[in-house]
Amino acid sequence: KVTPADRMLALPKQFFANLVEKANVRIAEGHDVINLGQGNPDQPTPPHIVSKLQEAAANPLYHKYPPFSGYSFLKEAVTKRYKADYNVELDPQTEVAILFGGKTGLVEISQCLLNPGDVCLVPDPGYPDYWSGVALAGAEMFFMPLKEEHAFLPNLHAVDDETANKAKLMFMNYPNNPTGATADASFYEEVVAFARKHGIVAASDFAYGAIGYDNVRPVSFLQTPGAKEVGIEFYTLSKTYNMAGWRVGFALGNRDIISLINTIQDHYYCSLFGGIQEAAALALTGPQQCVLDLTARYEQRRDALFQELESIGWRAQKPSGSFFCWLPVPQGYTSESFADKLLQEANVVVAPGNGFGVHGEGYVRLGLLADEVRLREAVQRIGKLGLF
Ligand code: PLP
Repeated sequence: KVTPADRMLALPKQFFANLVEKANVRIAEGHDVINLGQGNPDQPTPPHIVSKLQEAAANPLYHKYPPFSGYSFLKEAVTKRYKADYNVELDPQTEVAILFGGKTGLVEISQCLLNPGDVCLVPDPGYPDYWSGVALAGAEMFFMPLKEEHAFLPNLHAVDDETANKAKLMFMNYPNNPTGATADASFYEEVVAFARKHGIVAASDFAYGAIGYDNVRPVSFLQTPGAKEVGIEFYTLSKTYNMAGWRVGFALGNRDIISLINTIQDHYYCSLFGGIQEAAALALTGPQQCVLDLTARYEQRRDALFQELESIGWRAQKPSGSFFCWLPVPQGYTSESFADKLLQEANVVVAPGNGFGVHGEGYVRLGLLADEVRLREAVQRIGKLGLF
């Protein structure tokens, strides 16, 4: 009999797997299911990036092991993107780590920084991978509630001094999954001051950095004076260029932390396939119209969806970034019982908010990951249940 190590038992349950399973049962029964529960972009990668991979795959250099921490040209490409988009200067050799998607870095940073018993501040609701890293490190989580009345930003003043002084790491994520909120420069200034005061490393998850609405470009944490002294930012091509399957991400910023992340990666991996690195570099330095088109498409979808929501009387706040809508559940339901009802009676999959933390209770998350027609249809089906 195999006995897993304790750390395996500490890992949170993968609730997306559960969601997919339930939806698949409905599909197997022959129902026309509209799946808005996951975070997988529905559009293909722009063709110029795909062509570059096809061409690069023939390069025999890439058939060998790549350099441990990845090719310099890719690190240079991401620093150029940050300079152009955010006017942030980064040294490609010491302030960039190439990751297998943002996800690996989000888990690894806890292993790099936390000892058993250390405290990590995590947003609630929040992306569950933060918990996984903390659990694997044997550390403890202090949940910072994200509330609608506080614009879904954590209230740093509400973290008591004892906890703040014990904390070694904090996560933040704007544009936010699941709430669709964005943060402005003043929030990040507060974070830098808080991190300095208590000796905390601030980790910004900027997975949805490119997706901001109403002509507002989301702010990068690294634009804040002093950010590099106290933290890093995780950046990924998954959402910006519809490249979720390619697994390309980065950690950027504080060189001591970057060095730790590169060290842990040396033990797990030997960097990404060179052809993928070359295509990723083109994504970052080539034409950016595809990014503008992608954001415009999500914005159109958002507006179509909210028009429909209004027509059925489901009132909610529009997201200002990311491709998620965070919608309150009607009275008499929990987030889970409501999501179940939508699946069973409307064949619409949404993610129950409690999967993102206790403060996610009372909400469901809906992804703008189907075309306008399907999004409108999903809401009309829900409207027929007569709950609003
Ligand atoms: N961070 C957030 C908030 C996400 O929603 C996701 C993916 O859904 C990731 C990070 C991971 O992205 P990647 O594909 O780069 O691993």
